[in-house]
Amino acid sequence: MCGIVGYLGARDCTEVLMDGLEKLEYRGYDSAGIAVFENNEIKTVKTRGKLSQMKNKLETEGKPVGHCGIGHTRWATHGEPSDVNSHPHSNGRVTIVHNGIIENYAELKEFLTEQGYTFLSQTDSEAVACLLDYYYSERNPLHAITETLKELRGSYALGIIFKDFPERVYAARRGSPLIVGVGDGESFIASDIPAFLKYTKDYVLLDDDEIVRLDKDGAKFFDLHGLPVKKETQTAEWDVEQAQKCGFPHYMLKEIHEQPEVVQKTLDSLTSEGVPDFSEIGLTDEMLRGVGRVFITACGTAMYAGIVGKYAIEKVARVPVAVEIASEFRYMNPILNAEDLVIVVSQSGETADTKAALELAKSRGAKTLAVVNVKYSAIARLADMCVNTLAGPEIAVASTKAYSVQIVSLYLLAFRFAYARGAISESEMKRLTSLLEQTPQAISRVIERSDECQFAASQLINTETLFFIGRGFDYALSLEGSLKLKEISYIHSEAYAAGELKHGTISLIEQNTPVITIATQRHILEKTISNMEEVKARGAYIIAICRKGTMFAEGSVDLKLELDFGDLDDMLVPLPTVCALQLIAYYSSVLRGNDPDKPRNLAKSVTTE
Ligand code: GLU
Repeated sequence: MCGIVGYLGARDCTEVLMDGLEKLEYRGYDSAGIAVFENNEIKTVKTRGKLSQMKNKLETEGKPVGHCGIGHTRWATHGEPSDVNSHPHSNGRVTIVHNGIIENYAELKEFLTEQGYTFLSQTDSEAVACLLDYYYSERNPLHAITETLKELRGSYALGIIFKDFPERVYAARRGSPLIVGVGDGESFIASDIPAFLKYTKDYVLLDDDEIVRLDKDGAKFFDLHGLPVKKETQTAEWDVEQAQKCGFPHYMLKEIHEQPEVVQKTLDSLTSEGVPDFSEIGLTDEMLRGVGRVFITACGTAMYAGIVGKYAIEKVARVPVAVEIASEFRYMNPILNAEDLVIVVSQSGETADTKAALELAKSRGAKTLAVVNVKYSAIARLADMCVNTLAGPEIAVASTKAYSVQIVSLYLLAFRFAYARGAISESEMKRLTSLLEQTPQAISRVIERSDECQFAASQLINTETLFFIGRGFDYALSLEGSLKLKEISYIHSEAYAAGELKHGTISLIEQNTPVITIATQRHILEKTISNMEEVKARGAYIIAICRKGTMFAEGSVDLKLELDFGDLDDMLVPLPTVCALQLIAYYSSVLRGNDPDKPRNLAKSVTTE
């Protein structure tokens, strides 16, 4: 959510900031702005709207020319998206950009107003600029920052410049992500690595309650007392190419196409000699044997990946698994003990609710395992053990490849779990793992059928509402397929367990209401088909997604998408099948004239609760 960039070095600062903000667009935003030192004066340009509007404004108002500055894309939480509420915010001698929420801003605002400060915007962030100015004395920015931070409640990543110091950028964080890029004679701050990847791969992670100062000597780090902190520099494994569109019209389509490769990579990293191996992250068979109950907690698509994980773990390992929405779990006083394993799943590793659920689980003494795609993220660092999925940077807001590698990790965990507890033999674990090894090819075969998915999407473009139905793993997939479609096409959709529809929702089926029936699970195929017939009889337009060769009664299906899964076990077909659902969602979005990469109102990494 929201993007922060900052730069100090020899390059054209405006260009570096705008380019960095573009790389962070995927995070979702509604306004943008920059503040750059030009001839020792701070020049600010900001506007409501997208970066293209920002570019127009820079053309008309003139681009600030300088070498030191900060930039921001805002995802409004306090105050509507408007020019005034856009960041940077200046008050007195301080200019800031802020990501997060200052929970005690009203209190601070009242105090600062009494001190004579006037507020120009409705944001919570402006209180930080004023407070920094209030504490700024004797030309000591670090003192002003430490004093200010001590008074803030809530979450923040801050980029700060002081009028008196035209060659310095300060930054600090608590709760919201912030990374420092270390180049040759230049330094950066950013919410995520792609913002500076073009200039340097070396970065330092800022921890909660740490402050960084960028000046001509590089980056220096301090704690809340203003004392120096030693930090380790790391090197990013992602390259620039991975973070670009590479000829695809949208990141989402590129990321769908990357799935065979990233699934393979994730499989390779989590297996050895043909079986799942989690010993590197400290997850041993002995530990798995001692587990009492399993909880999977996450938000959105990651939670739906968790449901596939639940079905897989319960099916092969026979261990009870509860899937909980993280924003609920964190406040429902869950009954947890030291035998429980709490698995948290998050693409970004920064999801605020998932992180809070993890903190709660830890505080209750449960063992914690994270499945995340960003290895430097807060959740990865906080969990006892961490599976690092290898999807590479996922830029499109709607998650695709990250979901697939999440479920790959959960399948492997299920197999190892089952073996460790004696529910399956070593040879069965090997057999299941080798079947999973076949999924990259099966995914490729589905992606080759993009045209058919596009045709299916073309049947949906004028619809206002539709349903997804399925049973078992197909139900778990229905949830994800429906979410994907809603997110980017803006068509209302609901996912139902196929057998549940007639308990109320079937009353919504009218002539031509599309019902996407996922029918891949052979042991319950006839049941699913009966449910499909029930809605067909009430006028539904049926799109059936099924295994190659599946037969339906004449006239019961309007459009059939037969997928070639090869010899895959039914339990594993969600991997190739989800790609068809992603493609249907993608094309529905494009055909309806939307931008699938940046759906309205949504943010990629949801760092607020
Ligand atoms: N709470 C701040 C605002 O509404 C910052 C939001 C953000 O993270 O972009 O302006």
